[in-house]
Amino acid sequence: MIAIYPGSFDPITLGHLDIIERGAKLFEQVIVAVLCNPSKSPLFSVETRIEQIRESTQHLRNIEVDSFTGLTVEYAKSRQASVLLRGLRVLSDFEKELQMAHTNQTLWDGIETVFLATTKEYSFLSSSIVKEIAQFGGTIDHLVPENIARDIYVYYS
Ligand code: ADP
Repeated sequence: MIAIYPGSFDPITLGHLDIIERGAKLFEQVIVAVLCNPSKSPLFSVETRIEQIRESTQHLRNIEVDSFTGLTVEYAKSRQASVLLRGLRVLSDFEKELQMAHTNQTLWDGIETVFLATTKEYSFLSSSIVKEIAQFGGTIDHLVPENIARDIYVYYS
């Protein structure tokens, strides 16, 4: 079974990586798909994010990194994927994620959304928190893969 793990990953955090590693044990292949969202102004370009995720997931055999635009279900169809992998942290995630899962079900009934609960030490962790800390000169080494910390320190230096 092929699963798509869609998201912004701006940047990828240890919370994302944890979901990817656990997803890789459950599915034959996990495609980490960076959403090109023209309405957001990201810290890193889509190309850079793809490179960053590739570097952070080098140790995993069944991971592919790609990008897409438009509807996630259409992208999933084009990749013969039947699962959307998503992570849940807190109650506010649940509301948003459930709405998205239900919407996607109405668009294509061939898709199932599978949620993995965050590992408890990452329940507070988001890409925005990482950017906020880094912007004010704080340490982020314990929150993101090594290559990402390096890129972010360069960005804010
Ligand atoms: P999006 O803009 O699609 O929410 P994100 O990159 O913020 O993109 O998140 C992608 C997915 O990863 C979402 O399902 C989100 O809930 C999940 N996620 C993000 N951070 C964590 C974390 N620390 N633990 C578990 N899941 C997470």
